[in-house]
Amino acid sequence: MNIQKLECPNCHAALDSDYGNEGIFFCKYCGQKMIVEEMQNAEYDLKIRKMEMDHETEKIELEHKQQNIQSAYEQEKMAADYKFRTTTIFACIFLLVFIFVVMLIALMITSI
Ligand SMILES: [Zn+2]
Repeated sequence: MNIQKLECPNCHAALDSDYGNEGIFFCKYCGQKMIVEEMQNAEYDLKIRKMEMDHETEKIELEHKQQNIQSAYEQEKMAADYKFRTTTIFACIFLLVFIFVVMLIALMITSI
């Protein structure tokens, strides 16, 4: 339970609860009209909920960032793998052609 002192924000006089009608108070000393909010607990809950949601949003954003980094890493890895494979295939083809040419030359020399 939250008990708060009712006082006039204008003259700081204590407010009589009898003067309150549906949250509207009149200061009997200076005539100040005020609205006492009973929403404090609800506002507090709302604030907490908003903070939780912000936290949740930050968490989701962080997860997205991590996923992006992960996928970027995977793409880089795939590109590197592809490059390695292509280079290996070209090297093999070059080697086969080289061996074929050498054998052809050797055959020509022996047939002369
Ligand atoms: Zn007052």
